[in-house]
Amino acid sequence: MKYLYIILTILIFSWPTNAQDYKQRREKMVDKQIYKRGIKHANTLDALRKVERHLFVSPRYKHMAYNDGPLSIGYGQTISQPYIVAYMTQIIDPKPEHKILEIGTGSGYQAAILAEIVDEVYTIEIIPELGEIASERLKKLGYDNVAVIKGDGYYGLLEHAPFDAIVVTAAAEHIPPSLIQQLKEGGKMVIPVGSPFLVQTLMLVEKKRGKISTSSLMPVRFVPFTRSQKQ
Ligand code: SAH
Repeated sequence: MKYLYIILTILIFSWPTNAQDYKQRREKMVDKQIYKRGIKHANTLDALRKVERHLFVSPRYKHMAYNDGPLSIGYGQTISQPYIVAYMTQIIDPKPEHKILEIGTGSGYQAAILAEIVDEVYTIEIIPELGEIASERLKKLGYDNVAVIKGDGYYGLLEHAPFDAIVVTAAAEHIPPSLIQQLKEGGKMVIPVGSPFLVQTLMLVEKKRGKISTSSLMPVRFVPFTRSQKQ
């Protein structure tokens, strides 16, 4: 009985799933989890239909790649739930001519979604190993409009500022002032704010005529925004 269970488990996890199956799963994911929950931004929906999420997770989680939740990517980090990725993308209203900064590359999935829509994406990852894996992955998939930078994203990326939008995918205790400064006039930033181990609030920060306004969007749970030891 025990052996039968082991054989079945191996079979299920190693069963080859072809590209067509994944495409169908992706279509279903976008329809059920994204579109039906109110995401109607055409560029966002197209990008989620296109980017192969199963290539952003470890082989043992491939079969769960289109499920309605986050997944472990190692090093204590996660790839966000597809709906959250879609929501954050829609809220910043990315346009083809935009230059976007992401803090928290993780698997590189959110960066790939943005890169499908906009010209230039910069993404910063504090865990060097994750940054390296994501960088290789994005290169292999042909995303030559994404630059992965390894380091602490707290200070943003002054040399490429200002940005049309900033997407922060780790929960910060406060909104880093440098990120606000590096936002273009008319720009938008989306960031989870709150205590790392509790429910946080997803916030929208907008810069209009030099003035900053913030609004609360919804409760979320993200991994913590950490700081480099070198500070
Ligand atoms: N956007 C990712 C999800 C990332 S999870 C995806 O699509 O897969 C959040 C990531 O933020 C983790 O990889 C974590 O290591 C990273 N992170 C946390 N604090 C950071 C900081 N100060 N600067 C850059 N990256 C940070």
